[in-house]
Formats: sequence, C-alpha cells, structure tokens
Amino acid sequence: DKLVYKFSEGSRDMKPFLGGKGANLAEMTKIGLPVPPGFTVSTDACNEYFKNNGILTEQLREQIFTALSEIENATNKKFGDPSNPLLVSVRSGAVISMPGMMDTVLNLGLNDETVQGLARQTSNDRFAYDSYRRFIQMFSDVVMGIGNYMFENEMSRLKEEYQVTEDTQLNSQALQDLITRYKQVYNRETGEEFPQDPKDQLIMAVKAVFNSWNNQRAKVYREIHNISHELGTAVNVQTMVFGNMGNDSGTGVAFTRNPSTGEKNIYGEFLLNAQGEDVVAGIRTPKAIKDLEDEFPEVYNQFLEVSQLLENHYCDMQDIEFTVENKKLYLLQTRNGKRTAAAAVKIAVDMVEEGVISKETALQRVEPEQIAHLLHPQIDPDQDFEMLTSGLPASPGAATGNVVFDANEAEELKNIGKNVILARPETTPDDIHGIVAAEGILTSRGGMTSHAAVVARGMGIPAVCGCDEISIDLENERMIINGQNINKGELISIDGGSGKVISGAVKLTDPGLNEESQKLLDWAENIKQLGVRANADTPSDAAKAREFGAKGIGLCRTEHMFMGSERLPKVQEMIISESESQRKEALDKLVPYQEQDFYEILKIMDGYPTTVRLLDPPLHEFLPDREKLEQELNNLSKDEIDEEALEEKKQLLDKVKALEESNPMLGFRGCRLGLIYPEIYNMQVEALVKATKKLLAEGYSPQPEIMVPLVGHETEMELLKDSIHEIIDLHVEAPEEKEIFHVGTMIELPRACMTADEIANHVQFFSFGTNDLTQTTLGYSRDDAEGKFLAHYMQNDIIPENPFMILDQAGVGELVKIAVEKSKQVNPDLTRGICGEHGGDPDSIKFFHKIGLHYVSCSPFRVPVARLAAAQSVL
Ligand code: ADP
Ligand code: MG
Ligand code: MG
Repeated sequence: DKLVYKFSEGSRDMKPFLGGKGANLAEMTKIGLPVPPGFTVSTDACNEYFKNNGILTEQLREQIFTALSEIENATNKKFGDPSNPLLVSVRSGAVISMPGMMDTVLNLGLNDETVQGLARQTSNDRFAYDSYRRFIQMFSDVVMGIGNYMFENEMSRLKEEYQVTEDTQLNSQALQDLITRYKQVYNRETGEEFPQDPKDQLIMAVKAVFNSWNNQRAKVYREIHNISHELGTAVNVQTMVFGNMGNDSGTGVAFTRNPSTGEKNIYGEFLLNAQGEDVVAGIRTPKAIKDLEDEFPEVYNQFLEVSQLLENHYCDMQDIEFTVENKKLYLLQTRNGKRTAAAAVKIAVDMVEEGVISKETALQRVEPEQIAHLLHPQIDPDQDFEMLTSGLPASPGAATGNVVFDANEAEELKNIGKNVILARPETTPDDIHGIVAAEGILTSRGGMTSHAAVVARGMGIPAVCGCDEISIDLENERMIINGQNINKGELISIDGGSGKVISGAVKLTDPGLNEESQKLLDWAENIKQLGVRANADTPSDAAKAREFGAKGIGLCRTEHMFMGSERLPKVQEMIISESESQRKEALDKLVPYQEQDFYEILKIMDGYPTTVRLLDPPLHEFLPDREKLEQELNNLSKDEIDEEALEEKKQLLDKVKALEESNPMLGFRGCRLGLIYPEIYNMQVEALVKATKKLLAEGYSPQPEIMVPLVGHETEMELLKDSIHEIIDLHVEAPEEKEIFHVGTMIELPRACMTADEIANHVQFFSFGTNDLTQTTLGYSRDDAEGKFLAHYMQNDIIPENPFMILDQAGVGELVKIAVEKSKQVNPDLTRGICGEHGGDPDSIKFFHKIGLHYVSCSPFRVPVARLAAAQSVL
C-alpha cells in the first residue's frame, strides 16, 4: 500500500487521507506556489500504527526514507550530512483542523555535527545554534514529554549570567552553553543521550505525532466538537525554511479578510527574526502585517497576490502561515479561516456579490448557531462606566462576571451558577474547559491570532486579548491595572467588539439583525420549505418575532394571561367557586382582559396565523402555596380580628388541599380541565372570538387558531371541538367569518401519536408539543431529570445529548413520524407544525423538514436560526 505521498503527488481532494494541512500543502504545490518540498504520511498509516500497538512497520519506514531521499534530490541537501544538512519540520495534520491541539517539531536533523555544517553554510553561527537549541527543546517537549519550563528556567538563568533581557541578545557562545545545558536536562529526564542520528529523530517524531492524536487535550477538543476519534492524523515532513536567519527574515500568520468583522482587508501579524509558533503563542507581541510593507515591499506585494490567488482558488477566506527567509517568501499552510459570526455572514454575503460563490453556497457557509451569536448582547452606550484599560477586540460580544485566574476555578464557579470572566496571561489548550465555562476571556498577552482569540471566536465567547497594561499575579490571585488592584471574584465586564475592560457590571442591550444578515435570511426565505413561526405569549414577544421574520405564532400560551395583580384574584375566585354559575360570574370578569391580549397579538400578527393554546397547567398553580397559607392562617386566628378574612383563607386552604396532586405533570391539566370545567375554555374562546371580530371590523385579517392541549383520545377532541364551535356560532353569523377560526390540537402524548388517524378526523391542525412529548415518551419529568440524573447520563454516554434540547429522533421523532403518516391518510389538508423547544434546534429542524412537517415554531430569538436551518435542510 502507498502510505506516503510527496506534496507534488497530492491534492486538496485527498483530505481524508492526507489530513487538512497535507492536502492543502499538496494543492499549493500543484498550483505553483512557493512551498518548501516535503511529503505526507497518511492517516491510514496512523490507524495502522495504532492497530499494530505502536509499531512502525518496515514497509512504512521504507516509504518514508524513499520520500526523504527524493526531497534530498529536490533540495540538493542531505539528511544528516554535516557539510550540507537537510533539516525538516515534522507536523501533524488531522482531517479537521484542530488549532493548537497537536505539536510540531522544527529543525529536525540537527545534531552536534550538522549544526556546525549549518553554521558554516550560512556563515551565521548564531542562527545555527539558535535553531539547534529550539530543536532540542521542542523535541524534548513534543516527543519525550519533558516540561518546557525546565528549558525556560535554563534560559532565564543563562540570560542573567550573560546580563541580557531578550533571547535575541544571546550570542553564539551563549547559545552553545545553552545547548549543553539543554542536553543535560534531556539526559537527566530520560536517562539517555539526546539522539544524534537524524533518522532516529525522524522516526521518534513521526511516532510522537501519531501518539499526540490520543493526548488528553486533543481528545477533549474532539469531544467538544463531536469529531470522531477514529479519523487519525497524518504527519507532514517538510524542508525547513528559516524565519530566524536575521532581520531579513521572519514568520507570520495572515487572514485574507478580517476574521472579526469580515472586511475585505488582509489581516495578520508578523514577527521579524523569529521561527514557528512565536507569533501564535503570544510570547512576543507581533507587528501588524501591513508593517511588512515598509520592511520588505516586494515580499509584501507578492504576499498580497498570493493571498488573493489562494482566496479565489478556494473560494473562501484563507488563514495563511508563511515564512520569509532572506527576503524570500514561503508558504507553510493555508486553510479556510475561522471567523466570528459577524464575519461569517459578511464574507458569505460579500462573496456572493463579488460573484465568487452562489447564494446556496453562502447559506451553507454560516452555521445557524452563528446567527444566534450575532444577537449577542452589547454594552448599552447610554450609561457611565469605569474603564480599566483596553486590549485587542479579539471576539465580539459583551460579558459581565466575577473574574477568576484559573480554568478549573472558572468551571467550578460556573457549575454553581456563577458567571465568570477568565483572565489569564495567555491561554493554552489545557484551559479549554475554563474557556467553555466562562462568559468572557481576558488575556494580558498575545495577539488576534493567539490561542485565546482563535478559540473564543470559534465558540462565540467574547474575548479581549493582549491587554499589556494588565499584569496578572497568579500567585496572589489578583491583577494589577495601572496600579489598581482587582482581586479574584470582583465583578468586571469586557466588550470583545471594542476591546474595553470595565470595572463592575454593565447594562447590556440586544443588537438585532444587521443588513447583511437580513440579506442572507432573505435568500434563505426563498429556498426553505418549512415555515417558521414563533412561540410568543405577549405583544412584545410577538413584535420581536415579526422583527426576526417569523410568519405567525405557533404557540401562544394563555396561562400568563391569568397572572398579574388585577387578574389573579379573579382567577382564584373562579377556582374556589362552589357552583357553575358562580364560576361563570368570576370568569366573565376575565373576558375583557383576555380579549385585549388577543386583540393586540393578533393585530401584530396581521395576515399570519396565531395559534392560541387553551389553558393547560393544573389549577393549583394559580393558588397560593399551602405552607404559606397555613402560616398566614395561624397568624390570623391568633389575632382573631377579621372573621370574614379568616373564613376566606380557610376556604382557600381547603381548595388548595383538594387540588393537591402527587404528580401534576400527569395530573388534572390540559383538556381534562377543559372537559370538567367547560366554562374556562368557553371564556377563552369567547374572548378570542370577540378580539377577532373587532379586528375584522377594523379591516385587519386575523387568523386565529384554537389549540386544545394534551389530547390523548379522539373523544376528548370531538367533545371540545363541538363546544368550541358552539361558542363561535353564538358570536359569529357570517359563514365565511366562521371559517376564519381553525381548531386543532397539540400532540404531546404517545397515545395521541399512535391514534393520530382518529384524532385527525376532528381537527384542522396538529402542533407537536415536543417538550411534553419528550417527557411522556421517555418517562422523564424535565425538572427532575435536569436536576438529578441527566448530566450523569450524558457524561457516561448513556444517552448522547439532552433530549429536551435536541430531539430524540429514534424515540420521540419516530412517534412524530408515525403521527404524520397516520394523519395524512385520513386528512390530507391537515396543517402539521411543531412548537417545542426543538423548533429552534438546527439538527431537529432538519429532521422535521425530512418527515414532512409544514412549520416549526420557536422562541423569537431563535427565529433567525430556524430560518437559516430550514434553508439548509433543503440544500
Ligand atoms: P499548527 O498546526 O499548530 O499550526 P504547524 O505544523 O502549522 O502547527 O507548525 C506551526 C508553525 O511552525 C508554522 O506556522 C510555521 O511557522 C512553523 N513551521 C512548520 N513547518 C515549517 C517549515 N518547514 N519551515 C519553517 N517553519 C515551519
Ligand atoms: Mg501549534
Ligand atoms: Mg499551522
């Protein structure tokens, strides 16, 4: 089997086999860009290596060394030859890019002899020894797992001895001293000499890259991002070029467009006389890429051309790594750049307008979840706040929280419900769990391409990076900003859009959709087949829903209309009524309130359907708490003043006791309530009919839909439908006006799904209430599950995800599918929607599209997400 491919043999289509980095290095080679020659050891080789329990087969070794000799020919250098040594980098490259997850070894091939050759050849001793010491440290860290700090300590000690402050001030002699000490560290830690045979070095490094596939932080990253552990990584072996050869050299990272805002400007950072990860690691603060223009105008112009070429070639914004060696440009990596939600939308829309991609492609370039990030809170500009300092606007959005300086602590506080801002000098992949837990990230070092910035942008977490006025004192758990002390736990705020760091909490506002997202969503509108409605109980929710493009309300709950200081006493009066007539009298007082609510909501939704769910929760939810009542009663009887009040309270307490249930979720609620107390639903229908008539008279086009909750038997629906029609008939004369009212049911019991063909005979629409349907299908009460066992279930892979957020397709989804099929047969005109929380979840939306629902309904803020996901379901 062919397990090793030269860059000149591959292409971007071979990504599953060559990994992302290898495939793109091959592609760049193919289109004639200056890529240092090299080869890729395939992901198959990695998987074979694991199958062989960590042994590199003879066959693989042979292929590696054959490919290596071909590089020797291409470069006219020889691996291990002291007079003309070939040096290589060994780079991991998984199929899906995992920034910072796997480590790279540079300058491999150096030993005590080749280093002298390199020095002679370049007439640059300092450079040669600098490369060697970097190699020993990297090799020790990546391949042998020796802590970096041991080398950093040696470095610090040496700098003191030579009385210099910067690494770059160390001369050749100092560096040779350092190499001796580094080799001693290696020997002390491994019990062996630092390997002098470059072939051994190479084999050890290849194995280490393979092994790093299974290191802890790579595993955690894959878990978080749902990447299969089976993919394996490829290894790239590439001729070294040197950014650390002096002041005509350097290394950099650039995006072809601004990854934060999406603006079409080359955007990046560059360090003179530096190698490899120096830019990304945030060790020195780099220069902006445009400064390159002053230093090396020719190289800069060539780089601009190359980046435009790469962007056009890949039809997407590129993230490019490059090195300049003696004013000559080399490309070391390109990939589709990570970007903020705002940038994703802007770039997708701009590229359609530039004629680079189609609208369909643009719609697939934005994750539905990114649209949600766009609606991230921002700092309300109309307020005073105390600025502490500012840094780079690394990931947009504003956040307030208690500052902590440790990732574990961030996670712990999050678990007890606190909002935290994680502040670190810089972050590393080991901080991932803390970043996930934080509302916002703050770093004192590093640039826009530092680890913290990249990860935060990817996850949509606000971040401010590189605040050099902040000094973080990890030992004493505090940070010092211009002499001011901020201790652990103090409230601070950050604005990742502007870079502000603020003392205390700030007021946040909701930004709404910008012009580009509107445009994108308009395209989505033309492609999607699913309707998108909103769950809205109030006029302000309804208005929000319209603003975000909802075409109707899929669920308007009426229970809150029973709350409020004026209404609740009347509701309670109704509940404790002894007779039907008493109850009617109390209910009549509620009609004007409900009528007004319905009037306003229907008016906002003019021309679009509004599904009103008749009362669902058990009545005791409207009565006071039993213990509190007993307490009050106790106090009253002691005072013995007000006989009447005492009597009333007693009555109330009796009712509370009578309505007590051992399992309210499965108790006296929904249509059961409507059947036992028909006056309640009658009152609600009357109010809705009156509001509709009023709007009709004013020239509006209301489309009320009356929804009966929790139906399990056809007969329940039949009876309630008849009584609903009676009320309509009572108040509406014209037959065409009667038609305006649709009557349907919420499907939220397994029995309703299984007998959907019977129920469908009596209704005009079904709305799947997947929240309750999940509870009743799984037999979980949501509140108990989320508080007690669900987390354990998910952590231990007993269930894959929270079924209340992502539809359980195999169980609940199957029931929905059965109900769709059965109901279609008897009632082809039936409208079928879903109004559970799953209506806002992209994966669930794709499922609902597939099984033939007509619309999804979700909270107003999820409407834009659902619109995009609905379009993607078609593509
Ligand atoms: P990562 O996946 O973490 O980005 P890379 O394999 O891209 O790791 O290596 C990190 C950096 O090392 C590169 O951005 C580049 O600066 C440097 N590097 C890798 N290979 C070479 C090489 N052959 N010559 C010079 N620098 C290299
Ligand atoms: Mg790296
Ligand atoms: Mg890289």
